[in-house]
Amino acid sequence: MIRDDHSKMNRPPTLDVNATLRERDLAANWHPCTQMREHATRLPMIPIVRGDGAWLIDANGKRYLDGVSSWWSNLFGHANPRIAAAIADQAATLNHVMFAGFTHEPAIRLAEELVRIAPAGLVRTFFAGDGASAVEIALKMSFHYWHNHGQRQRTRFIALANAYHGETLGALSVSDLPLYRAVYAPLLFEPIVAPSPDWLDAEPGESADDVAARRLRDMRDILERHAHEACAVIVEPLVQCSGGMRMHAPAYLTGLRTLCDEYQVHLIADEIAVGFGRTGSLFACEQAAISPDFLCLSKGLTGGTLAMSAVLTTDSVYQAFLGDYAANNAFLHSHTFSGNPIACAAALATLAIFREQPVLENNRLLAARLAQRLAPLREHPHIAGLRQTGLIAALDLVADKQSRTPFPAAQRRGLRFYLHALERGMVLRPLGDTVYFMPPYIVTSEDIDAMVDVAIQGIDKAVA
Ligand SMILES: *Cc1c(COP(=O)(O)O)cnc(C)c1O
Repeated sequence: MIRDDHSKMNRPPTLDVNATLRERDLAANWHPCTQMREHATRLPMIPIVRGDGAWLIDANGKRYLDGVSSWWSNLFGHANPRIAAAIADQAATLNHVMFAGFTHEPAIRLAEELVRIAPAGLVRTFFAGDGASAVEIALKMSFHYWHNHGQRQRTRFIALANAYHGETLGALSVSDLPLYRAVYAPLLFEPIVAPSPDWLDAEPGESADDVAARRLRDMRDILERHAHEACAVIVEPLVQCSGGMRMHAPAYLTGLRTLCDEYQVHLIADEIAVGFGRTGSLFACEQAAISPDFLCLSKGLTGGTLAMSAVLTTDSVYQAFLGDYAANNAFLHSHTFSGNPIACAAALATLAIFREQPVLENNRLLAARLAQRLAPLREHPHIAGLRQTGLIAALDLVADKQSRTPFPAAQRRGLRFYLHALERGMVLRPLGDTVYFMPPYIVTSEDIDAMVDVAIQGIDKAVA
């Protein structure tokens, strides 16, 4: 991999192209997850003109290591030549055709390939656009399955505390982050909320497995009371990412699968963030040796190049929707760009890389390097909860280590950290005061070292 010396790239530019683009952007765009006024005042909006592997390059030529994989989507680098070529070829052949009444080989091959690599029993693929639409589909399919089986009293979902499943109204309904949810609460349905198996909630002397066992007992109580009215339990396997990179033991998922079978409710695994090698296995569910009834995929599906999501499900679910046209039991949910050929081509190129290269082995080496470099931070007086699952590592900035007391939110320590890292050419956008690392799989060990070095400086600055 060719890497410029980025200290050279940080020379003050003679012409500030960034400023010009920034101004035009602020006049016309409205950005996601953003208090726009901050960009007009204290926060620099960064115009990116090019991607190069793990690096993003702004209009002034400054390079940034994408330490969070552009919201956890990028796997094999920006402007990956193989994926780019697949997209270009497909765009020159067939851009799009509606996926009702028509089909095409890219979607056929992709569905076949997803079924081949997914946990056993997931034999049907339904394509959509964003992650949130995949969650909507899984919720609706589960509900509709029970409806078609005459169980019309099943209208509820069981979700975990601290969950995040996206921001359309259905997905937001089963999410538990007040920051995103609270204001819309009057528009949302109420899930039954089960405690999170987050291992940071361990009582003194408890292991991650103990926490899992305790939370499974809570889940059993909930199912005992609510299974008759519940369609499904929805979880983010192994890591609740948006909820602050909170992690749990695989044993929780294994136990949850057993409980869902025992109480006859579906299990929806939202692997939108953790799928495709992020946690050390291709899918997080593999570490618990389970198959969900619905598997939601997006983000890394196209290597982070195009919006696409998929819901995989079982033959038993599929069969429940077959019948006479007049019976009106088909799944009529539709998105215009469902099965888009260009997105399929990007996904196929991404999956080809998994087939042909030792991606998971390499990720394990990178994860070990990251762990080794972060280990000394365990002793840091303002860091608590250092944790890692595969290529996701996180830590919390705290005012007091012993009691894990957070800094007052208004102090925005995480933002200080973010700004320091940016200045040093690292994109490490924390979740509040949770600093995390989630780099693309093509970073080098040197990139990881540089990222951690900058992070340590940034942390010291943020907690000072
Ligand atoms: C990002 C994410 C979603 C939503 O995906 P979008 O493409 O942003 O709509 C849903 N679930 C999880 C676990 C996610 O991380």
